[in-house]
Amino acid sequence: METASRCSQNEHLVIIGNGMACHRLLEALVNHPQRPRRITVVGEEPVPAYNRILLSPLLAGELAPEALTLQDASWYADNNITLTLGDRVTSIDRERRLLLTHRGDILSYDRLVMATGSRPTLPAVPGITLDGVHTFRDLRDADALEAIAQQGGNAVVIGGGLLGLEAAEGLRKRGGSALTVSVLQRSERLMNRQLDTTAAQLLEATLRERGIIIETGASLAALEGNGHGQVQSVTLSDGRKLAADSVIVAAGITPNAELGQQSGLIFDRAIVVDGHLTTSDDHIYALGECCQFEQHTYGLVEPIWRQVEVLAAVLCGETPAAYQEAPVATKLKVSGVSLFAFGPTEAAAKHEELRYQDPETGDYCRLLLHQGRLIGAVLYGDTRHGPWYFEQALAATDLTACRHLLLFGATDAQTALDNHFDNPLDTLSSPLSLTREAA
Ligand SMILES: Cc1cc2nc3c(=O)[nH]c(=O)nc-3n(C[C@H](O)[C@H](O)[C@H](O)COP(=O)(O)OP(=O)(O)OC[C@H]3O[C@@H](n4cnc5c(N)ncnc54)[C@H](O)[C@@H]3O)c2cc1C
Repeated sequence: METASRCSQNEHLVIIGNGMACHRLLEALVNHPQRPRRITVVGEEPVPAYNRILLSPLLAGELAPEALTLQDASWYADNNITLTLGDRVTSIDRERRLLLTHRGDILSYDRLVMATGSRPTLPAVPGITLDGVHTFRDLRDADALEAIAQQGGNAVVIGGGLLGLEAAEGLRKRGGSALTVSVLQRSERLMNRQLDTTAAQLLEATLRERGIIIETGASLAALEGNGHGQVQSVTLSDGRKLAADSVIVAAGITPNAELGQQSGLIFDRAIVVDGHLTTSDDHIYALGECCQFEQHTYGLVEPIWRQVEVLAAVLCGETPAAYQEAPVATKLKVSGVSLFAFGPTEAAAKHEELRYQDPETGDYCRLLLHQGRLIGAVLYGDTRHGPWYFEQALAATDLTACRHLLLFGATDAQTALDNHFDNPLDTLSSPLSLTREAA
């Protein structure tokens, strides 16, 4: 793939998908003096891009719908962006640089950005198309889940990752005692990609106390209907059956990459891009959850924001440094549950592990070091120092001088580090009083 050639400001830039990546890109472009003058956005959803991340607090009743608004339609018009909503692009003619939409519109482009996001992955089990089976991706889904909460009965959430737990907690909060919420997690622990066993157990205990039923090691085998097309129960592969008036599937995402694939762009798990977000056609870029860089696909906004910076510069005729992967930290948006994690969940033989757990407060901290550098952390309860740990990991700071203070958090460890750089011998020989003990 070629690095993008210089763009002319008169070129027509078309963006497919008006989600979070598109919106962030537009914000970056409109502030740039070399922005493409003609920008058209085609989005399938009926409203302008909104903050999808806030769907979870919206479902939990913690936010009003207006809080999700990023910019209203007038902002697009004010910034000379043509916005078409409620229509989807159905094909790309790369030869003639034309797009066809579902409504039958034909659009020409000079440069094209695909920002089509992803969709929830539906497990291939019998009964998955029954009525009462939902996903949690957009405003319509949030409305449907709110209706489930109001109806009461039994709601079964498939997936004990970030999204499944946020959906389960939102349903529990909204449904009250009329709704029983169960979470089925295939792995032996919740959030198995982010948490170690101890943190996952603490999280599970908290959610159970709130009334959510958690089934780990629970693999979905089938959904059964009531004879009228409505889901009635779910069966696990060990034969257990749970009553289910509704099922919410939150078991991973699939990139919306078919449009790129059909038009002949190089495709693997998603649309393949290089470090300048250019696809195998150098007039077409892909961004966000629909793209694949090296072996990575995306499900959180942090790396997407960094992609946006690169692509905005490219589209304004600059040659920015290429996008590179960087670690991402995880937080869970469940009120009253503080959790911060990054890096490997389990220690390898070469790693040094530092742990602290306070059974009284429920606080837990586990750090992983390799050659004096932090490569992973799991914090539960008191997560105040998470961002500092993450910063040190990103900067690959040698923490040997403050290793003994690391579990005390940012302030003590940073002071020891600063002292060490001022006067290395003083710090290493200074007496220490440990009030927090590594477990
Ligand atoms: C409930 C929920 C909570 C989340 N919480 C977090 C969080 O706490 N932290 C975090 O980092 N991330 C979170 N995420 C993930 C985050 O929202 C996504 O990473 C982000 O939205 C990806 O942006 P995107 O633009 O690639 O995709 P999207 O925001 O999904 O936008 C893609 C848009 O393209 C449209 N589209 C698709 N195909 C076409 C077509 N052919 N024609 C026209 N339009 C099309 C889609 O309808 C959609 O509007 C959460 C996601 C959900 C669903």
